Amino acid sequence: GSTIGILGGGQLGRMIALAGRAMGYRFVTMDPTEDAPCAQAADRQIVASYDDVNAAMQLAAVSDVISYEFENVDAQVAEVLESQAYVPQGSRLLRITQNRIREKTAIREIGIPVAPFCVVNSLEDLQEAVRELGLPAVMKTATGGYDGKGQWVLRSEAELAEAYETLAKAGTELIVEQFIPFQMELSVIAARNPAGELAVFPTAENIHEENILHLSIVPARVSDEVKKRAEEIARTIVEKLDVVGLIAVELFLTEDNQLYVNELAPRPHNSGHYTMDACVTSQFEQHVRAVCNLPLGSTELLSPVVMVNILGEHLQPVIDCIDKLPRSAKLHLYGKAESKVKRKMGHINVLAPTVEEALARIEELEIWTNKTEVSS
Ligand code: ATP
Ligand code: MG
Ligand code: MG
Repeated sequence: GSTIGILGGGQLGRMIALAGRAMGYRFVTMDPTEDAPCAQAADRQIVASYDDVNAAMQLAAVSDVISYEFENVDAQVAEVLESQAYVPQGSRLLRITQNRIREKTAIREIGIPVAPFCVVNSLEDLQEAVRELGLPAVMKTATGGYDGKGQWVLRSEAELAEAYETLAKAGTELIVEQFIPFQMELSVIAARNPAGELAVFPTAENIHEENILHLSIVPARVSDEVKKRAEEIARTIVEKLDVVGLIAVELFLTEDNQLYVNELAPRPHNSGHYTMDACVTSQFEQHVRAVCNLPLGSTELLSPVVMVNILGEHLQPVIDCIDKLPRSAKLHLYGKAESKVKRKMGHINVLAPTVEEALARIEELEIWTNKTEVSS
């Protein structure tokens, strides 16, 4: 059988490996942390930091195909891998999605709406940007941010200096975006194989808590017309940006039913975990199919589903009420050595005849009840 090399050892790599092993592939992962979630599911781990070029050459030497489970792949490593191994996804999409400025520019250039934005390299730039875009606005580091890290929602002129000083510490360019007053956040995951075959998963409705994904609800509670437009946007992005592998497209839906793309992820995505139990093909199997140039699987939804994330603070409560979980709840845990507040430890897919029932079953567990901040 062939060996797939995965750059990165997190839960996304783990679930790619679990899906791919069922299809007969072997996996080698490269990650600095010993016994990483992906390593537990792979045949072998190369313990090395993500920018270790020699380790990357080792990975290339033992892999027939190389993929990655995060977008912040070191440029030099990407170059080495591309020259010494088969990297069907290429590095162009990585370059785009690593940087919010390049990403938003590329999306806008293919005619898809994004929030109006400005590039900021100084406090003067920021003041100018806010004059142009108005308030509120969202300032973000151009690179490296996730789960809302490296962001600042600007609400008044008075906080510009402090916000700039704080985010500038990251040492990257900054971007300021107009604040989109969305009624809902949506995401669509699409796949394409090197042969050009394209498949799109059903649109998910996403609810975040403190900038971390909390629930994905499928079918999304919007009109078929909106779903169709969201899926069409994903299809256009795949075609125009020449995507191979998976791409996740995060979108904002406004009150007047306009769609804006927020960001892209060139890999399996947390909001696609629902596919593991609710679709004919999971996003992870689809990813393997796409990078191995196999025919893509059906993305048909078999049941309404709600995915709820298990963060560190939810893990013990979930274990404590394991006997109360509905029998149609599918529990997935990532095997992380250390549980920390806000760290993604697993998720549950709750299948039900309707998403309302699935939501009610999650609520009955009383684990994710709205925490009212207790101030001491
Ligand atoms: P992820 O964990 O999804 O990678 P991230 O740190 O890359 O997150 P974004 O997805 O850009 O950050 O933003 C996080 C959340 O902040 C969004 O899901 C949305 O709720 C809110 N947000 C971001 N940008 C805007 C905007 N321009 N207008 C309104 N809300 C925004
Ligand atoms: Mg992001
Ligand atoms: Mg996001």
